[in-house]
Amino acid sequence: MRNVQPEVFLVSRPQIDYDAVAAYLREVSGERWLEHLDRGHLDDAQNLAEFAGKLCYRAWEPGLNPNVVKVRTDQRKYLENILSQAHGSVLEHATFGFVLHNVSRVLTHELVRHRPGTAISQESLRFVRLNDIPFWFPDWATADPELMARATALLEQLEEFQRWMAGHFGLDTEGIPFGEKKHKTSFMRRFAPDGVATGLLWTANIRTLRHTIEARTDPGAEEEIRLLFGKIGELMRAEAPALFGDYTVTDGAWIPRWRKV
Ligand SMILES: Cc1cc2nc3c(=O)[nH]c(=O)nc-3n(C[C@H](O)[C@H](O)[C@H](O)COP(=O)(O)OP(=O)(O)OC[C@H]3O[C@@H](n4cnc5c(N)ncnc54)[C@H](O)[C@@H]3O)c2cc1C
Repeated sequence: MRNVQPEVFLVSRPQIDYDAVAAYLREVSGERWLEHLDRGHLDDAQNLAEFAGKLCYRAWEPGLNPNVVKVRTDQRKYLENILSQAHGSVLEHATFGFVLHNVSRVLTHELVRHRPGTAISQESLRFVRLNDIPFWFPDWATADPELMARATALLEQLEEFQRWMAGHFGLDTEGIPFGEKKHKTSFMRRFAPDGVATGLLWTANIRTLRHTIEARTDPGAEEEIRLLFGKIGELMRAEAPALFGDYTVTDGAWIPRWRKV
């Protein structure tokens, strides 16, 4: 048994092609909008959300659309208005990819219930040998010696059974067809505990992120997913403060000022 810690790696974020945006804006006489933008490597998500919102009304500057006589030039205020108006579709253009590493199948079962705005690629346990089971124990569990002794013994027994099956099925015998190996390792994973640590790439747009951070840090949510979504909340607040700065965090629960955009 290998004691592991759940981790989050933010591996992808949106990137704007400002030349292409400028070319479009010249078409609609809106290129002055670009002048007030910050263009650091962390600005693209917020800029993309503002771009999507302003495109809806051609609100690049006053007068371009005769119905729009005033435009917000302060991005923080503009995006706050988007959140307060629940104009959430403009947030769907910006997606972020997270590797959730050393997370249990308990967590992944719950995570996949969130469907709109996500993409998932999960490690296949059809190909993994489970003779050294990676497993996370929360601190309160590691502080309980009898629980740890019994849990470790049980996991070691499962590992021993995995090794026995691998020998019994002759999985390491020279020339065993790949298909046969896959068939048997797929059977063997049925004896893995739900707590076995695995991993996935989870990509979500900002609208989905706002909702799942709230739902999965709720005090009623499971402790591992709360821990992970607390980390995702921290990452997103640093990535896009104008879109994640309205949360207050109380006892690990992320509560947004603007709910369900
Ligand atoms: C604390 C907690 C405990 C839970 N316990 C259980 C449990 O015991 N058993 C269980 O089965 N599940 C449980 N769940 C999962 C829960 O029932 C939902 O499946 C999960 O939270 C995803 O739903 P969502 O509303 O967040 O939808 P998401 O998939 O995240 O979608 C976001 C929003 O889009 C809209 N939407 C999405 N899909 C549809 C649709 N098909 N039709 C209309 N609108 C849609 C809804 O407004 C939805 O809220 C639990 C969730 C939490 C947070």
